[in-house]
Amino acid sequence: MLRGRGVNVPIICPMCDSDVEHLLHVFFDCEFASRCWQYMGSVLDMREVFFAPSWLLQILNSLSREEAVLVATTLWGIWNMRNKKVWENNCVTPSLAMDWSKKQVSEWREAQMKRCGSQTLAHERDVTADLKWVAPAEGELKLNVDALVVEGSTSFSIAMVLRNHNGQFVEGRNFRGAGHATVLEAETRGLVETLDWARNIPGKKVTVESDSMLAVNAICRKVRYHPEVGYNMERCQAMLEDNRNIFLCFIRRQANKAAHLMARVPCSVDCFNVFCLLLAFC
Ligand SMILES: [Zn+2]
Repeated sequence: MLRGRGVNVPIICPMCDSDVEHLLHVFFDCEFASRCWQYMGSVLDMREVFFAPSWLLQILNSLSREEAVLVATTLWGIWNMRNKKVWENNCVTPSLAMDWSKKQVSEWREAQMKRCGSQTLAHERDVTADLKWVAPAEGELKLNVDALVVEGSTSFSIAMVLRNHNGQFVEGRNFRGAGHATVLEAETRGLVETLDWARNIPGKKVTVESDSMLAVNAICRKVRYHPEVGYNMERCQAMLEDNRNIFLCFIRRQANKAAHLMARVPCSVDCFNVFCLLLAFC
């Protein structure tokens, strides 16, 4: 396109050096692009396609919202990595390119949800009241959960803190999982572990609190989510349906400090730390 406007730039694809860098090639035909689509689990029939923009607009109309987001995420990741190659001579694998793109989309969504949420809260109730953790009612328990994802790290952490109606610490657990995870993946994995713990506390009403508004809302409203986190969300929904003594709520980050800090306690990969109070009797 720049060539068409008289700019003297190379016309060969920088990713493979083997074809002219036209739109269909960059986003679909190039080996890098086709491996990106494969990694995202999308099978596109491109045999009859000669002009990418009109084809794309046409299929976007026939896709669900989630499928359209997947297409956009893939295109965006391919384009960003192509630019990284051109401007920084930096190459990454298709899986890293797609993980990066998915992470951007999930963080953007979470930020949007949090922004909407905090705007509603500001109108509807006293915001300062939400900034402090509140103990559960007499005889009930609260389980707070938080996740930690450090950019570039090959593991993620989750932490859970159980407290009683006096606000006393009962037990804490943290876990470090292997592998790259988006914030939403780690938060939903944390919720799976927390609800699993809650359902094994017999005879008590347990309120589970998470500061991931996106995850809590999606689970409570039974939103169908993309495959990345859909399985975790379905497991959470099933556990909540089977255990009427467990409740899931959103809590502001400032009120979720105990779990937030515990997620930063060092832990071996694929291990649980369990924190208990040791009582000395004299
Ligand atoms: Zn190429």
